[in-house]
Amino acid sequence: MAARLDDPCRYLKGVGPRRADALEKLGVRTAEELLLHAPRQYFDRTHVQPIATLQADTDACVRVQVESLHARPSWGGRGRVVATVCDDSGRLRVTWYTPWVREVLQPGHRLVLAGHVVRSRSRLEMRQPEFERADDEAQELVHAARIVPFYPLVRGVSQKWLRTLMRRTLDTHLEHVQEILPDTVRGDLPTRGAALAALHFPEDAEAAGRALRRFKFEELFLLEVVLARRRRRARESSPGPAMQRERSRHERYLEQLPFTLTGAQARVLDEILQDMTSGRCMQRLVQGDVGSGKTVLAAAALLCAAGNGTQAALMAPTEVLALQHAERLLPAFTALEVRMDVLVGSRSDADKQRVRGRVASGDLDVVVGTHALIQEDVRWQRLGLAVVDEQHRFGVLQRMRLQQDGGGRPHVLVLSATPIPRSLALTLFGDLDVSSLDEKPPGRQTVQTRLVPPHRRADMLRFVRTELQAGRQGFMVYPLVEESDKIALRAASEEFERLRAGALAGLRIGLLHGRLRAAEKETLLHAFRRGEVSLLVSTTVVEVGIDVATADLMIIHHPDRFGLSQLHQLRGRVGRGGNPAWCFLLQERNSSEESLERLRAFARTEDGFAIAALDLALRGPGDFVGTRQHGLPTLRFADLAQDLEVLDRARHAAFALIDLDPELALEEHRAMREHLDTHYRMQEALAAVG
Ligand code: ADP
Ligand code: MG
Repeated sequence: MAARLDDPCRYLKGVGPRRADALEKLGVRTAEELLLHAPRQYFDRTHVQPIATLQADTDACVRVQVESLHARPSWGGRGRVVATVCDDSGRLRVTWYTPWVREVLQPGHRLVLAGHVVRSRSRLEMRQPEFERADDEAQELVHAARIVPFYPLVRGVSQKWLRTLMRRTLDTHLEHVQEILPDTVRGDLPTRGAALAALHFPEDAEAAGRALRRFKFEELFLLEVVLARRRRRARESSPGPAMQRERSRHERYLEQLPFTLTGAQARVLDEILQDMTSGRCMQRLVQGDVGSGKTVLAAAALLCAAGNGTQAALMAPTEVLALQHAERLLPAFTALEVRMDVLVGSRSDADKQRVRGRVASGDLDVVVGTHALIQEDVRWQRLGLAVVDEQHRFGVLQRMRLQQDGGGRPHVLVLSATPIPRSLALTLFGDLDVSSLDEKPPGRQTVQTRLVPPHRRADMLRFVRTELQAGRQGFMVYPLVEESDKIALRAASEEFERLRAGALAGLRIGLLHGRLRAAEKETLLHAFRRGEVSLLVSTTVVEVGIDVATADLMIIHHPDRFGLSQLHQLRGRVGRGGNPAWCFLLQERNSSEESLERLRAFARTEDGFAIAALDLALRGPGDFVGTRQHGLPTLRFADLAQDLEVLDRARHAAFALIDLDPELALEEHRAMREHLDTHYRMQEALAAVG
């Protein structure tokens, strides 16, 4: 029977059902997947030494003949095998702790051994070496006398067995490997077949490197081709609510602001309005550092939708932020005769019922809220725009679309304060266009960031006290612990009482946490904004978006528990009023050097892009983006955080190719198309349901 790349592993010679199950745990089900199982490292065993030149405590390779071979009982009872082997230069003792070796080797056998050399009772000895029969001098070896691959393993699969299987599968299947990259795209990367051979049994380190680069590129290129096609189709098939600029009311809103837009804001606003008036569905991500002024853009978009007679929703991740948005927008929107209300979970049922009723009857133009906006029971009469603020969980977008009764997709605008490199953003958020706000409004202060060791806390509190007495304001943050806000709340409450009774006695401090009712939160935030409360002690709710210009102090407990981007968000809450601002990170008693180094790196820079890059490198994209919903396949070779430059090239090449040949109908794209059809059909189907 002819070998095929999609042969299931269990039918490969020497595999069988049990080992096939083990391989499956490595993500290897077919011959092709086996060949794509890359070594985690290589050992250079090209150098075969004469026995006489061996030295203790080294790894070495020798080509020998077995003189004698004995099974010996050993202390542990399993027994061991002791052999004497020789070459022209001398003799060597070899010990294996695996008794079966006695069954497969015999005096007279020629072997190549690779293993660790130790000194034992004044003689050299090789312990538990890998061995390979080498009776024929000319025969090409697999396990020694070459650069040897070492693979990631699971229980039931040994290094040597897998390497043997790999060699055999290359021998049987390599000739069936086709090039799938078009020549023009491949450039001087090795062909698929050559790269597979070199990936496992490279001539030298460079060849292995070239093979790896090829597969990284291939993987990212195919991914981008899929994204490019999906995106093209989405563009073609998604008419959006067609709006007109003239009917938008954003200009009057912008005129009454106490500032003018930065150049970046003006540019991005134009991109947004162009989308909204294009007749196609806007799907845009605006990324900009904390404080870069995303909210006014959201407001302008909401006004465009409302002015054009559709409804618009602004969704925030927390109630505090939703309430803040509402409070901010209400006066201006009311003046523009835009009917606006709030929908958050902690409002009374009657209140929520009333708002939902007005949403359904079309009696509201703009609704600001939290996840409550996308609950089952919310029916829009004519949703034209959904703005999602500070939100990474894009699953909500899909659901937002489904809530529309009369069909028709709304425009979607996503705001993110975690800027990441453009090609990565475009890849992770496949269907979105990306705008970057790369300029901050004038007058922002740098925030002095300090790590505070435990013995300096009292000093810090004295400083904080003086500042608060002088009329400054600040936040003190406790992170959620293990998803349980109870514990964080207890810690925050205790600290709150301690401060009130001690270091900050006589000052007005407030405790803000997730369990307060909406009205209580509103009252507290009002008081803070009016300066009646100096310090807000809080669980993470201030993380995203609270904007109080006079706040200059940010004190963060357990900074280790935050990602760097989150810390950056927190720090971004202060320093907006033109006074010197401070961010204190309270170092824990048992902080590791690694975590301190991370915090020091954070303290050194205020550049959101740099911090995001660092965070990304430390955490990896899956965790960083906080979702697996982006529907990306698991990557075997490439690392989205590390291989940005390859990603960039792959993306450009892929989009250029899809522009040229959207359906991959050209003959030179056939192999790639077939490959995608078999390998990506599932992924596309999954992504489509989102
Ligand atoms: P973020 O991008 O973090 O959401 P905001 O939209 O909350 O930032 O804006 C932060 C602060 O900057 C707000 O007080 C806002 O009024 C102010 N702001 C926004 N744009 C400008 C500008 N062009 N000039 C001066 N201040 C601005
Ligand atoms: Mg914001």
